[in-house]
Amino acid sequence: MIAVLIVAGCAALAPARATDPKLQPWQDFADATAKAYGKWYAPRVEYALPNSPYEGARWSLGTIYVRGELLDQLNMPLLFAHELGHYVLEHRSSSPQVEMEANAQAVEILVRVRRVDELQALTAFHGYLLSVHRSQASRGVLPGHASACQEIADLVRRYPKHETVTRTWECAK
Ligand SMILES: [Zn+2]
Repeated sequence: MIAVLIVAGCAALAPARATDPKLQPWQDFADATAKAYGKWYAPRVEYALPNSPYEGARWSLGTIYVRGELLDQLNMPLLFAHELGHYVLEHRSSSPQVEMEANAQAVEILVRVRRVDELQALTAFHGYLLSVHRSQASRGVLPGHASACQEIADLVRRYPKHETVTRTWECAK
């Protein structure tokens, strides 16, 4: 649901300049984010190299690298917004704290750039982090991240105005 809302709004923006048409909606999202935050450059969106570490998306030195086979996944707008969060905050390294800041920034980007309702964006992000939390039982915590449960608690704490809804959420405390 949220993926449709986020991607559908892109069609009319920005001239084509992604290296592949499938990347264009994501390049448009990056361009719109640069504009909304008054940045002097927009990140380039490229495919991850086949031999690079397996991640859905990654921010590195002005470029967001994405996995082609994951572009159509429902969680992709959330992953991508997280990478845009690193860009907006000008992160140059990773740490558990930096990753949690990128999550919070991602929610703000979805609201400000894609006009997603704030509680809806928060709910979608909680759902995504919860799926990460479940996978961490077998696969372990992502390098450089706090546990997904800790990331949820941090994210929810930043939105006290939604506490009546979020207090019952798994991992919210
Ligand atoms: Zn990150």
